[in-house]
Amino acid sequence: MALIVQKYGGTSVGSLERIKIVAQHIKETQDKGNKVVAIVSAMAGETDKLIKMAKELSKRPSEREMDLLLSSGERISSALVAIRLNEIGAKAVALTGRQCGIVTDEVHTKARIKSIDTKRIFEHLDKGEIVIVAGFQGISETTGDVTTLGRGGSDTTAVAIAAALKADVCEIYTDVDGIYTADPRIVKNARKLDKISYSEMMELASLGAKVLQIRSVEFGMKYNVPIMVLSSFTFNPGTLVTKEDEEMEKVVVSGIAHDKNQARLKINDVKDEPGVAAKIFNEIAKHNINVDMIVQNVSDDGEKTDISFTVSRDDADKAFEILQQLSKELGAGNVSINKDVAKVSVVGVGMRSHPGVAAKMFETLSKENINIRAISTSEIKISCLIDEKYTELAVRALHDAFELGEE
Ligand code: ADP
Ligand code: ASP
Ligand code: MG
Repeated sequence: MALIVQKYGGTSVGSLERIKIVAQHIKETQDKGNKVVAIVSAMAGETDKLIKMAKELSKRPSEREMDLLLSSGERISSALVAIRLNEIGAKAVALTGRQCGIVTDEVHTKARIKSIDTKRIFEHLDKGEIVIVAGFQGISETTGDVTTLGRGGSDTTAVAIAAALKADVCEIYTDVDGIYTADPRIVKNARKLDKISYSEMMELASLGAKVLQIRSVEFGMKYNVPIMVLSSFTFNPGTLVTKEDEEMEKVVVSGIAHDKNQARLKINDVKDEPGVAAKIFNEIAKHNINVDMIVQNVSDDGEKTDISFTVSRDDADKAFEILQQLSKELGAGNVSINKDVAKVSVVGVGMRSHPGVAAKMFETLSKENINIRAISTSEIKISCLIDEKYTELAVRALHDAFELGEE
């Protein structure tokens, strides 16, 4: 008997018909003699709809209330899946984040899980029940308020629960049948990978491959949870996210990722002296805004310089306001914002030992006449910021240049 954690994303539970199919699959997993905990997302489009409603009522809705609002989407789908399971002869209970002991920090709309008290889940499992968990949510340790884990957060609920329960596997059911060399919706000849290392998947996820939320991969790597990504439409074998092995290092580039959820901010004419960058980025960090790429120009006169950086588009307006305030305090120049940018990235653990990847990437983009606005690198990835309108062109060109496609 195995303990299996499954997660069903928004499209997988996007209609009552889909919920019937998912419930049937959960029941069959239990019928094979396994204990099952299934995490569900809100029905497809539901979270976006709730955000839109709030934004029609207020330009900047309070984050605490947004969390209460958004957590309801997952509550609805979890209850519906449990209702269907009970109808078809299984015993199931639906639990909210709070009910299954998920405690987070208090950062509304992007809270991090701090602990999971598994007692209640085990009690239900021991009674032969299937536990259906409302994904994407928890409860703040300090305030007791409902929190959510950031967009795509049900993946993280699932892997964190799998780690806490020491489950045998965490199966992520979605609308594609695994991890591909690039988003299969953009690159038609993208190739499905049988397995991928946690570190590569973490890069892909942080670079915009939304198939798994980055925090979920972090949990998987830290607690060594085998994550299987597969389709709830075909139930075909999928991609295993696992520890790196020698085989994987032979491949120089394993995937291309893109992210349109990017904005570039720029502050001109800041004093070129120690402490200025620290002040700017401290202030941004205080507001829980993650900064990604940073470019500081070398100043011609040694007195003044420009600093640009990227943040996610959801944080852009907030960052812009902070920067305008800082510009006044620092006696700096103009502050500008550009939301029409995107990031394309090339990822592969083999890059560590194979030179020339950056050169090939820049050459490929230049052949397509695509201008690079910023660059960042790590041991296993290279990212370029480009104009958003060229995203698809860039992804396809890079996928071809690194010969990643199906023959
Ligand atoms: P869910 O609602 O199940 O959580 P998501 O929409 O969050 O599903 O993630 C699945 C989507 O991720 C796919 O439909 C696909 O377009 C996208 N995606 C982006 N990059 C990749 C990739 N490299 N491999 C597979 N899917 C990818
Ligand atoms: N419903 C949430 C979202 O749309 C969380 C999730 O689907 O994982 O982002
Ligand atoms: Mg998702």
